[in-house]
Amino acid sequence: MTSLLLVISAPSGTGKTTVCDRLISSSPDITYSISFTTRAPRAGEIEGKHYQFVSEERFKTLIRQGELVEWAIVHGNYYGTPRAPLEVSLSQRKVLVMDIDVQGGIQIRDKYKESVLIFIIPPSLEELKLRLQHRKTDDEETINKRLLGAKEELKYASCYDYYLVNHQIDETVNKLKAIIAAEKCNINRMVFDIWDGVI
Ligand code: 5GP
Repeated sequence: MTSLLLVISAPSGTGKTTVCDRLISSSPDITYSISFTTRAPRAGEIEGKHYQFVSEERFKTLIRQGELVEWAIVHGNYYGTPRAPLEVSLSQRKVLVMDIDVQGGIQIRDKYKESVLIFIIPPSLEELKLRLQHRKTDDEETINKRLLGAKEELKYASCYDYYLVNHQIDETVNKLKAIIAAEKCNINRMVFDIWDGVI
């Protein structure tokens, strides 16, 4: 068994949350990294399920105490990945799905050989704008900011290992499962205790 840290980054509105939810519910060996954030909860978001919502003061204490493996400021709020669950996932040789931005993805890539970086994009910027408008959670100004952010994020796609265009949720989830299966067989990730050390 091989542990994997599956970093999934995508511009907001790409369908990443649905894709991650579907992937996680497909296997008990796949768990989700619940980030800390200083942003306010949105309607329907649950403390401890979607995020751990904390004050800026508490977030800075977490940084000082070394409890975050990476952190970044995204759209003016702090976001960070807690260390303890990540270490548990590694020690249990599980797959940890991390829905984090490109700044966080690059930090994880540089620190952990178990990382696999996947960038998901919508079919086009026009399609992304439509999806953001349909969500009805953001005003026009916020949507425009998110579109600009998406263009910025796309510049980092070449730092990633895989690039998926989310045309259809089922197809994207199946591709993610295929990536997990392939990465678990990757010879460079093998733990050499197979057949009592023969290979
Ligand atoms: P949202 O506020 O829309 O949930 O997330 C905004 C952005 O923050 C998304 O790109 C999301 O992937 C990113 N994000 C969420 N959690 C983390 C984290 O722990 N670290 C980093 N670097 N980014 C995060």
